[in-house]
Amino acid sequence: MISKKIINFMVVSYLKLYKFVLFDNRCIFCDYFSLDSICSTCFEDLKQKMYLRKLPKEYFEKELEKVWFDNFYFLFSYSDFYKMLEISKFHNRLDVLVYVSRLISSIDEKIWNDVCKGVFNTKVFTFIPNHEKINNYLISLLLANWLSKYNINIVNLFTVNSKKKRLQHLIKDRKERILNAKDKFILNCKNIQRLENSRIIIFDDVSTTGSTLNEASKLIKEKIGNVRIDCLVIAKA
Ligand SMILES: [Zn+2]
Repeated sequence: MISKKIINFMVVSYLKLYKFVLFDNRCIFCDYFSLDSICSTCFEDLKQKMYLRKLPKEYFEKELEKVWFDNFYFLFSYSDFYKMLEISKFHNRLDVLVYVSRLISSIDEKIWNDVCKGVFNTKVFTFIPNHEKINNYLISLLLANWLSKYNINIVNLFTVNSKKKRLQHLIKDRKERILNAKDKFILNCKNIQRLENSRIIIFDDVSTTGSTLNEASKLIKEKIGNVRIDCLVIAKA
């Protein structure tokens, strides 16, 4: 068995080489020379800006017809997270994506307990599938690794329903976004009933109107009655 440390070391070395060959050696934030995609100073700065914020479901009722999730949490203001998102997601920089997962895994236990506390014993973690398959797979893998210590079941509940749907982040108009999110997913869990009495956390990177997470929540709540759904996103736009 190769230890986790060795695997991590290999992944990080590979990504440094990947960045060295393909991109200039500068921190994406401060532009100073750095072998790391985000220098340690900027990374610490980002960590300082990350804390758990909660929005009540009433907040979303202004725009959404019916709100299906129970709570909404986010970690960054959009302006603080935007650069990382733009480079990792839209420019497909896997090296920067690793920093996103490092940030998530640096969320301390206290924050995590705040999200998870409650009456339900079973905790289920699921995520919104991305169109960029490789990123989706990687971030899920990293998340699964991080969450394994919290006794949380990771379930891949959703599949994108139609390839014809437009990418949500390319739509500027908020009303159009809400329309585009409708019927976006299908539930790919055959025995969803076993999640009765669970607390389900749905994770996504960014949310603007909450419509994507709401559609996902609706799919679950139409099938099972006693379930609590908390949405957790990295940034709220
Ligand atoms: Zn920097």
